[in-house]
Amino acid sequence: MKAIILARVSTELQLIDGQSIPAQLARAREYAFKKDFNILNEYQFDESSTKDRRTKFEVVINQIKKSKEPLALIVETVDRLQRSFKESVELDDLRKDGKLEIHFIRENLVISKDSNSSEIQRWDLAVFVAKSYVLQISDNVKRTFDQKIKQGEIIGVAPIGYLNSVDDNGNKTVIPDPDRSYHIQEVFELYSTGNHSMEAVAKIMRDKGLNTVRGATIGRRQVELILKNTFYYGWQIHKGKLYPHKYQPIIIQDLFDKCKEVFRGYDGKTKNHSDKPYIFQGLIKCSNCGCAITPEFKKNKYVYYHCTNHKGTCKKVYLNQNELLKPVMEVLRNISLSQEMIDDITEDLSNYEKSKNNFHEEQLKRLRTNYDNTDRKLSMMYEDRLDGRLTADEYDKKLEEFRGEQNKLLGEMKQYEQANTSYYITANQVLSLAQRAAEIFESSEVYEKRQLLEFVFQNFQLKGKNLLYKLKTPFDTVLLAGATPKGATWGG
Ligand SMILES: [Zn+2]
Repeated sequence: MKAIILARVSTELQLIDGQSIPAQLARAREYAFKKDFNILNEYQFDESSTKDRRTKFEVVINQIKKSKEPLALIVETVDRLQRSFKESVELDDLRKDGKLEIHFIRENLVISKDSNSSEIQRWDLAVFVAKSYVLQISDNVKRTFDQKIKQGEIIGVAPIGYLNSVDDNGNKTVIPDPDRSYHIQEVFELYSTGNHSMEAVAKIMRDKGLNTVRGATIGRRQVELILKNTFYYGWQIHKGKLYPHKYQPIIIQDLFDKCKEVFRGYDGKTKNHSDKPYIFQGLIKCSNCGCAITPEFKKNKYVYYHCTNHKGTCKKVYLNQNELLKPVMEVLRNISLSQEMIDDITEDLSNYEKSKNNFHEEQLKRLRTNYDNTDRKLSMMYEDRLDGRLTADEYDKKLEEFRGEQNKLLGEMKQYEQANTSYYITANQVLSLAQRAAEIFESSEVYEKRQLLEFVFQNFQLKGKNLLYKLKTPFDTVLLAGATPKGATWGG
């Protein structure tokens, strides 16, 4: 079979994952060789240039269309293809016609005409997870580089969940406490659900045997201190400002932020509810004129929605919020996975996780080697200074340069560790949400309901009194596999 190789360049991602084009090409060629494919073409895409992406995409599509025999498209990972080609519908059509096989090296996944629904679902799910993963990384990169990373040493004592320790070189360091760090993560996870008060979390953790290093029990106050400590996700406060520290985070910031939101929610419960945003505010457009559908409070009791009618082409139709919620609830109730499907997805995810972990290890090894090389350069430079081959000024300048380089490498390593956890959480979210979507929705605060809606739905439109919508991946396939809800869907 003949094959086309795709490699992707992205300045932003190249920084973080060191995915050089030659390395990508080498892996793809090796894959082609193993599968006994003849390489027809190799394409490289510049992510930062939309124009470049589109024209090259057309070239690839045309080549596949014109080909008299089916072709294989080899890509490093789902994310490489999907980010480059948002319009993967065209690729999918070619696949269905039997003109194309897509090979994802890292996922060990081949999508062809004969792919069954479980493979297609795996593809959808991988796209979804890859997207969340990439978003997380680029976000973190920006945040970290904006804040110039200082030395990152701990100020004060290590909080519960960490231990003060000594590293191989005899330097003081802080490591996650093997007996407690897992429990700390649990504290955040429990509280983030919004189902437990701090007292309740404290009780659960006491029952699980969590105590302080000195043996004291955990109460509400300790839980509050834990939930408010940024150290757990990699930052420490010094003189009112946040600085990243160099030790291993126990949780990701996302989880920390979620707890903060929950805390605010509890705080606001005694206050007037009407100052909170409405469930559908800003989420629905009028299908007739494209204007926003806005909420209005009527008789101090009911929430009604109507078209803002900025263009003056619509009749004002008022619709009760409960009417809008009906189709939404129907969809959420239908997102139910059979145990068999959950097992399938979990297995796929853990396979994907394994391949990704190998990749991570490779990258971490590379960063570690670079770090050690810089260390070696530093000691050589010190010799030069002692022998008088460098002036004090030259030495200081170089020292600063190398230290900066090392800090950057440390920052990158930290991103990897964080991205790993966030991936896991995303995958978990998909599963747990799918299982209990309706229940979670009904018991949630307005802001959580909105988050959930945006997680599952897209393109809400109001047509007359009907709410139209599209589902986000992977919920569209999950629903297709189960019972299809009766509610109208957008565009079909
Ligand atoms: Zn309208």
